[in-house]
Amino acid sequence: MASQQAEHPCATCAKLQRTCCQTAEILVTAGDRARIARHTGLADFTSRKAPARPAYAQDDPDDPNWKRWTIAPDGTRTVLQRRPDGDCTFLGSSGCTLPEEVRPLVCRLYPWSYTERGMTGLDDEYCPKEALLPPHGPGATMLTVLRMDPAAGERWRQMLYRELQTGEECDARRADL
Ligand code: SF4
Ligand code: SF4
Repeated sequence: MASQQAEHPCATCAKLQRTCCQTAEILVTAGDRARIARHTGLADFTSRKAPARPAYAQDDPDDPNWKRWTIAPDGTRTVLQRRPDGDCTFLGSSGCTLPEEVRPLVCRLYPWSYTERGMTGLDDEYCPKEALLPPHGPGATMLTVLRMDPAAGERWRQMLYRELQTGEECDARRADL
C-alpha cells in the first residue's frame, strides 16, 4: 500500500487563507530579473512602486544599507507585478511556477529574517502558525515546519545583499556563496 504523503504546509495554508504569494509585495534584484527573464522568456514582469508597508521605506539602524540599496530617490522600488486580485504574477494553481533557483531571493528566504550582517531569526507574520505549528509539537517554528535549510538560506542572503549593492546578477556558482 502506498504511504500517504503529508500535505505541504504551504498547500494547507492556501486552504486556510490568502498566502504570502497573494498578499506580499516581492522586491526583485537585478539578478532576480535576469534569472526570471532567462527562464520564462518574459521581459515585462516587474513594476516600480513605493512600498505598501511604510516600514520598508524607513531607515533601519540594524540594516543601514537596506533603504538606499532598495529605494530609489523617487521613493519607488522594483517589485514583481501582481494580478488585479493581488496574486503574484507567477502564482499558479499548485503554487509558484518558478523553480526554486529562479524565484526572487526574498521569496526563497521567507520566513527567515535577516540583515546585511547575517540571519536574525524568524519573520513569519504571513504564515497561519496557529494551524501549522501544533501538529509538529513543542519547539516547532515555521522554519522547521517548512524544512528551511540554513546553509541555503545563508547563501541566498549573501546573494541578495550582493545583488542589491552591485545592481548586477551574482554568479550563484561562486565558491564564496
Ligand atoms: S515568485 Fe513564486 S514564491 Fe514568489 S511570490 Fe510569486 S508565486 Fe510566490
Ligand atoms: S510561507 Fe507561510 S504564508 Fe507563505 S504559503 Fe507557506 S505557510 Fe503560507
